[in-house]
Amino acid sequence: MTSENKQSFLIGTFQIDIIVHGFPGKSVCHGPLGFSTIALIRHNEFTALVDVGGFGQRLILNQRLKELGVRPDDVTNVLLTHSHFDHAINWVNFPNANIHISRKEMTWALEQPTGKTYVPELYVAALKDHQNLVLVEHDEEILPGIKSLICPGHTPGSTVYVLDTGDSDIVFTGDACKNRAELVSRAADMTYDANATKNSINDIWSAWSRRDGGLLIPGHDLPMVLNNNSIRYIGKHEAAIKVWFDDSLNKSTLISLSP
Ligand SMILES: [Zn+2]
Repeated sequence: MTSENKQSFLIGTFQIDIIVHGFPGKSVCHGPLGFSTIALIRHNEFTALVDVGGFGQRLILNQRLKELGVRPDDVTNVLLTHSHFDHAINWVNFPNANIHISRKEMTWALEQPTGKTYVPELYVAALKDHQNLVLVEHDEEILPGIKSLICPGHTPGSTVYVLDTGDSDIVFTGDACKNRAELVSRAADMTYDANATKNSINDIWSAWSRRDGGLLIPGHDLPMVLNNNSIRYIGKHEAAIKVWFDDSLNKSTLISLSP
């Protein structure tokens, strides 16, 4: 099944493409699905990815970039929202890019015990020594138009990137706010600190609602737009699993995960 949700937004001088749509679900018996959002921002001064996904998204990421005419060598910046495996593994695909992650997140990720968390230890260790690593602080201008907001809760150094396009704001939340349910309830399913999460989601709302028409791109959901205080999804949820319960490879069942 291929996604028809190939969304492109040309806003001001910024071209934004959703490479992979995050999905607001969690598997019940097998740990996280890890269906996370990857977004591309192109501008005459840079070609940046916000998050780069996990192993399962590698081929889709490569294919979609190819379709958009972007070679891995062309990517100038990778903005990681946090260190979890489903968002951060594929920084290794972009040899020329500066890899941005918050200093707080990096410090925390390097302290995590091996084999106990969703932090990919070996990738984080390699990133620590990478020549193009850039450690991000709170409220810093990362690239022209793009600022960082450290929003702890999901992880201690989770970072939200806010793009000021001139007329509106685009807020890339990562897992500081994974989906619409978290955004509206101001609480989270996976958090190290529920109070920090609530404050972070309040900060996300402030950034998003600063001007009418803002776009919010969460870590595990579709983009949403805010008009006159009303939230509207852009696109449709699309996810499905192909399963073999029979003796033949030719006989499979498609189980839709769409609402
Ligand atoms: Zn996460």
